[in-house]
Amino acid sequence: MSDDAQDRPASGLLIVYTGNGKGKTTAALGLVFRALGRDLRVAVVQFIKGKWKTGERRFAETIPGLTFLVMGRGFTWDSDDLSRDRAAAAAAWAEARALIEAGQHPVIVLDELTYVLNYGFVSIPEVVDVLRARPAHVSVVVTGRNAPESLLAAADLVTEMQSRKHPFEQGRKAQIGIDF
Ligand code: ATP
Ligand code: MG
Repeated sequence: MSDDAQDRPASGLLIVYTGNGKGKTTAALGLVFRALGRDLRVAVVQFIKGKWKTGERRFAETIPGLTFLVMGRGFTWDSDDLSRDRAAAAAAWAEARALIEAGQHPVIVLDELTYVLNYGFVSIPEVVDVLRARPAHVSVVVTGRNAPESLLAAADLVTEMQSRKHPFEQGRKAQIGIDF
């Protein structure tokens, strides 16, 4: 069997990793790892600004061929300045949209996009339209809980992570290198 990815026609998929269980972002990053191994250009846009730099963000800075964007300052879970959050989300979506439409990255991850959709910071119909109209060779991976129905309807592949156990329930804190 040929192992030459170049032999195969490019056919982009819209992939959604949703559900309450752990593994959505890490599944998307596993796909990034695989795509980079095939010399595909990859872009990741994270729609949440964490308190700390995540492990993936630290590592991403060292990887050629990987464009890694994190939503601008302003967005936190307990922020009371919603207009600032909204502006940060809109700016991140504008960058993601431009990346998708440009077609230069065959794999694009929109990590935690569902949160800004569910907060109403970014228009769901607009996102679904842009994803449906993406270049044919571009695959997009969307992660986050409570993915909207219209996004699921547009997707080719949907996996719902179901939590059966999580150490958080035993009072164990998030682990460096495992959770962030
Ligand atoms: P990961 O980034 O580890 O793949 P995720 O993307 O599936 O997780 P998110 O909803 O983005 O999950 O939440 C990220 C953080 O919440 C991680 O630190 C993760 O360990 C934690 N988490 C995920 N699922 C659960 C759960 N069922 N109970 C408690 N904490 C969780
Ligand atoms: Mg996540």
